[in-house]
Amino acid sequence: MQTVNDATSLAAAIEAAQSTGKKIAFVPTMGALHAGHLSLISAARNHADFVVVSIFVNPLQFGVGEDFEKYPRTLDADIESLESVGANLLFAPTVDVMYPDGQPAPVTKFSGEIGTRYEGAARPGHFDGMLTVVARLFDLVKPDFAIFGAKDAQQLFLIRRMAKTDYPQLQIVSAPIVREPSGLALSSRNRYLDAASHQVAEQLSAAIRAGHATAQKPSIALESARAVMSQVPEAKLDYIALVDADTFETIPDSFKGRALMLIAAVVGTTRLIDNIEITF
Ligand code: AMP
Repeated sequence: MQTVNDATSLAAAIEAAQSTGKKIAFVPTMGALHAGHLSLISAARNHADFVVVSIFVNPLQFGVGEDFEKYPRTLDADIESLESVGANLLFAPTVDVMYPDGQPAPVTKFSGEIGTRYEGAARPGHFDGMLTVVARLFDLVKPDFAIFGAKDAQQLFLIRRMAKTDYPQLQIVSAPIVREPSGLALSSRNRYLDAASHQVAEQLSAAIRAGHATAQKPSIALESARAVMSQVPEAKLDYIALVDADTFETIPDSFKGRALMLIAAVVGTTRLIDNIEITF
């Protein structure tokens, strides 16, 4: 696997691949890679013959007081993992490469009203910063396919919506959530959890599974999920919500169709999110 750190070397490597007729599949990440990330790379390999992965901890999507500085950075281990799953090219830029006009970088993509709900309410500006860096990465990598995890459901929704208007040639692919045997969704932030917090964190997935198991009506599913979380007051529940999977709008109790149950809670100092698809 080749590693490049600047836009010129990236463009040269991409052009070399394209000149031999290869399609490009792209997996953006913030590094600290785990099996969830690696599943996206496998999905990428199923779509195209040249897989580009980026590792960039994007300051623009972290709020004041969030964990930008202490976000785990494990580049050597990440490179080993990427080689083991057959990624072709790693793009690991510095902040200056991504934002050459200096900092704070201007926001160029906006997530709108949906971007102010749920994760956006807890993390103002997060989704605008995320869309801005994803767009810049798309402009640099020029992929045919881009792969994102269903774990970050609101992010995936917003990226799909942006791509539809701004990158119509690009196919956005979603990959299922990879979980520990306990049910806990893998996350780079799980490494912040000690044993006791880990047990508490497992209840997020238990809660949405309970919702899934009692899906006669949205209100009943929500009640079941909330009942599980009420057993773990150590988890500071932010929201449990049901949204239309296609529009991300809150659903009425009469809703029929594909919904997502979303959950977010803070365990210790770690913010965790999860979701599950429920058909009513
Ligand atoms: P991150 O490095 O946290 O920005 O995540 C990079 C990509 O990996 C995003 O598309 C995430 O949705 C995806 N991802 C993170 N955790 C998981 C997981 N447990 N299962 C599947 N995809 C994941």
